[in-house]
Amino acid sequence: MKKIVIALDGYSSCGKSTMAKVLAKSIGYTYVDSGAMYRAVTLFCIQHNFFQGDRLNLESLRKEIKNIHISFVNNAETGLSETYLNGINVENKIRSMEVADKVSIVAAVDFVREEMVKQQQEMGKEKGIVMDGRDVGTIVFPDAELKIFVTASPEIRAQRRLDELIAKGNNSSSFEEVLNNLAKRDFIDSTRKDGPLKQAEDAVVIDNTSLTMEEQNEELMNLYHKAIL
Ligand code: C5P
Repeated sequence: MKKIVIALDGYSSCGKSTMAKVLAKSIGYTYVDSGAMYRAVTLFCIQHNFFQGDRLNLESLRKEIKNIHISFVNNAETGLSETYLNGINVENKIRSMEVADKVSIVAAVDFVREEMVKQQQEMGKEKGIVMDGRDVGTIVFPDAELKIFVTASPEIRAQRRLDELIAKGNNSSSFEEVLNNLAKRDFIDSTRKDGPLKQAEDAVVIDNTSLTMEEQNEELMNLYHKAIL
């Protein structure tokens, strides 16, 4: 059967990674969370004290960027792919509010994007991939056979993110804090010069504010079947 590239872009916490994971599993494709890569670079910056408040030391990061190796390893127990930074499992750490607060600053840096996009394109060379992010359908895979742009209301997104944090044992963030973080990231992500969050002209929009999981999956499977014709 014809193998394709599927790009899912959209705002933070709009449910696109859940959609992408379920779709990839149903059709036997590799799932790549491109946001996890920017989060891992951000964790590296925090661990190496490259931040002073929101100010990032670009020179130090530039020197180290080639020493930041990100990979995804399948956890045999959960069946989920987990993010590794220089050989260490950082899947939980990269989901913290501390990383969420700084990631858009790191993701706006041109040489960081250049390096990440290069690695992402390499991962999709053989096709058979579902990748979610912000610029996947516009910059990483402009020729992707299927592009989906996911939206949802800010309140639904914040509640979803808060539920995820609580499920991971982080009870210290409030709804307002999460909502503000999402608004801050949306703003930086959509106004940056390189690879801004933008709907590709040929993307199909899915607003999942009030869609159930079953409805989302059905819609994705329909789109996939049309795309492989
Ligand atoms: O998808 P997630 O919310 O985990 O992404 C974290 C951050 O990584 C986003 O807020 C954005 O700043 C950045 N990102 C990006 N380009 C991508 C994926 C994520 O700039 N393709």
